[in-house]
Amino acid sequence: MRKILITDEIRRLAKEYADNLFTKRNSQFIMPEDGLRIFANELRLHGKDNYATYVDAIIDHYYEILIIEPNRFDYYKNEYFNTLRDEDLLQHVNGCPGNKKFYEVIVDKMRYDAVQKKEIRPYIKKLGIKTCVYCNASYAIATDDNKATYQVDHCFPKSKYPFLCTSFFNLQPSCMHCNQIKSKKDDYIYSMYTDVPTELTPFYFSIDSRSIIKYMLTHNSDYLRFKLKSNDDENEIAIRHSDFFHLDSLYTQFTDAAEELIWKGKIFNAAYRNQLMNMYNKKIAFGMDDFKRFYLGFYPDSKDINKRPLTLLMQGIAKEMGLK
Ligand SMILES: [Zn+2]
Repeated sequence: MRKILITDEIRRLAKEYADNLFTKRNSQFIMPEDGLRIFANELRLHGKDNYATYVDAIIDHYYEILIIEPNRFDYYKNEYFNTLRDEDLLQHVNGCPGNKKFYEVIVDKMRYDAVQKKEIRPYIKKLGIKTCVYCNASYAIATDDNKATYQVDHCFPKSKYPFLCTSFFNLQPSCMHCNQIKSKKDDYIYSMYTDVPTELTPFYFSIDSRSIIKYMLTHNSDYLRFKLKSNDDENEIAIRHSDFFHLDSLYTQFTDAAEELIWKGKIFNAAYRNQLMNMYNKKIAFGMDDFKRFYLGFYPDSKDINKRPLTLLMQGIAKEMGLK
């Protein structure tokens, strides 16, 4: 949920990804441009010239497409991929192998399978993101062939933007819950990248103070209620995001985490903090951030939101509880 600012360093990483893409493959591996060329010929043989032109455009712009930034995605679609409408991409046309739709064949030929399984992984690791960028409720980590890996989602859906299926800035870590929702509906876009420094944290969580009173009377954490918020007047950005990913209902499962922060809010004060620091500093030689992480139980800095699930929730509630 914390965004990544597109800096020259991030652009360098994207370029490194594009420059190294499939370079370590053996001679059996069919490179995207070769597979796409064969596919375009097949489409032409079947008289599907407008489809073939779409494939040609991918070949012509292949390298640029790998590194274009999100604010240029629609420009590319309108400028170079306008021979087909969105509904055309969903068709099975003569020249498509098997029962596959046109966009699915594009995704195959561009070798998204190999990108998802191998190529993009080291770059997500370098970005330091371990949680789902949509919900921050789960890790986006799974295992594949007994190796820890990332689940990856297309920010701009491959059914409408198949040419972006292996683009660096279109691939982002996502959990199973959010991935499934996105695979059924494709009318909401949330990119984990931004080029606007003030948009790095578009959301925060806020706890309903009446629910705290109810909790204090009953000690039943089920009464605790919190909401995703954004800084726009009507909270519309957060409502749309939360509705799309069903976050209200998902987060009702995490009231126990909020409960612990309420306890800490009541107990932790400056004297307690100093006492802890004096007791343990010699043993562990804490840095201030580490010490806060130790006694609060979560990463306190907003730059670390994507490192561990529920960090956005914990940071929001801790702020409201006056925890420092
Ligand atoms: Zn998620």
